[in-house]
Amino acid sequence: MKMNRRDFVKVTGTAAAVAMVGFPHIARANTKKVVVVGGGTGGATAAKYLKRLDKDIDVTIVEPNKTYFTCYFSNEVIVGERDMKSIEVGYDGLEKMGIKMVFDSAEAIDGAAKTVKTKGGQSLPFDRCIVSPGVEFLYDKIEGYSAEVAEKIPHAWKAGPQTSILKKQLADMKDGGVIAIVSPPNPYRCPPGPYERASLIAHYLQKHKPKSKVIILDAKQKFSKQGLFIQGWEKFYGFGTDKALIEWRPGPDAAVTKVDPKEMTLTYGEVGEEMKADVINIIPHQRAGRIAVDAGLIDDSGWCPVDGKTFESKKVAGVHVIGDACIAGAMPKSGYAANSQAKVCAAAVVALLNEGEVGVPSFVNTCYSLIAPEWAISVAGIYKLGADGKIAEVPGSGGLTPMDASPDAHAREVQYAYSWYTNIVHDIFQ
Ligand SMILES: Cc1cc2nc3c(=O)[nH]c(=O)nc-3n(C[C@H](O)[C@H](O)[C@H](O)COP(=O)(O)OP(=O)(O)OC[C@H]3O[C@@H](n4cnc5c(N)ncnc54)[C@H](O)[C@@H]3O)c2cc1C
Repeated sequence: MKMNRRDFVKVTGTAAAVAMVGFPHIARANTKKVVVVGGGTGGATAAKYLKRLDKDIDVTIVEPNKTYFTCYFSNEVIVGERDMKSIEVGYDGLEKMGIKMVFDSAEAIDGAAKTVKTKGGQSLPFDRCIVSPGVEFLYDKIEGYSAEVAEKIPHAWKAGPQTSILKKQLADMKDGGVIAIVSPPNPYRCPPGPYERASLIAHYLQKHKPKSKVIILDAKQKFSKQGLFIQGWEKFYGFGTDKALIEWRPGPDAAVTKVDPKEMTLTYGEVGEEMKADVINIIPHQRAGRIAVDAGLIDDSGWCPVDGKTFESKKVAGVHVIGDACIAGAMPKSGYAANSQAKVCAAAVVALLNEGEVGVPSFVNTCYSLIAPEWAISVAGIYKLGADGKIAEVPGSGGLTPMDASPDAHAREVQYAYSWYTNIVHDIFQ
């Protein structure tokens, strides 16, 4: 019978006994290694829960940045309701738990050799690898757009310097200006995010630049929590009137095909209408993060197919994909979803490494959106792995804020949103 370190410790009594009887090499030889690629919401959660479930696993996170800016609540930063510092987190908490940080980018994941190669030249061996690289922006879907142009026409869809650029442009804009938000086709990170952003910008304009306007040029005909957003926009921002601070133009007539960063114009729709704006925020088309593409983890959809029980890739054995990058059935690409998937994946990896049984998982997601300082809305759902192997929402498990919710209920949702933020950041990083 194969004896792993845990069994050995069980037999001998304690880890100290291992050292005393003089077999430290047995402990080392049997130490299981997990390399986590990406220290964002999914990756950091997975690393923490791996350690919690089995402290003997050697867990390493590969992440290029020394701190992480949460995308959640970055829309508040754009409009000056909070500062960048308040959405920045470091990795000290995870390091204290014994998780190793390698501040570098993963350049290759070799499923056969079971190694992750980093840009800095390290080769990290693994028994299992968990990949949570977020999304890659597909700039080439809009003519004239590129990573360089995004320095002038920001997406601010990965929190960090881009968030600050958009914030500054909004602050510098004259009263009477037009802000164009270009909303991408499905699927993409944070489905309600563009509409929360439009709401908070409208609130900012109402306070500081009331002659201005936000126009959403959408590739889609409908969007997440649409009824509740429109209700809120009518209540607070004159939506549908000639004094509206927000205008929403649905696809396909409003699908943007071209940007001219010099002239600050957008071309959209089949006939190629043109619009000039003072601030342009293009949220690009997306697919799984670049490393997932390079490692052969994506399918034709651009996202990573996985086994919904373990999140092991259907393309590369021994490599698991979680978060925005994976195809997770009915679950949206959200931070809460990534956090929930990460816990399921961590438990499955621990079971697989210890020859244990993998359970049938369920998942949770709640997503709050702020429309005004005293008015938030939410969508919640419980998800389960079905017999068909697909992750589906449990009927009747969640739902939306009711359309007839009282102002007090909406104000309470704002408080729930803030406490959700505190809790999830703690759950991931501390
Ligand atoms: C404006 C906005 C608002 C949002 N609001 C909410 C909200 O209210 N609630 C909610 O639940 N979700 C929200 N989200 C969505 C949420 O931020 C994402 O769904 C979540 O971050 C996904 O987690 P992830 O681990 O997949 O990706 P990320 O959190 O982006 O983490 C990916 C990490 O991988 C690293 N990485 C990438 N490539 C490599 C590589 N080659 N090597 C090493 N590391 C690499 C990156 O540096 C990054 O740290 C929002 C998103 C936006 C844009």
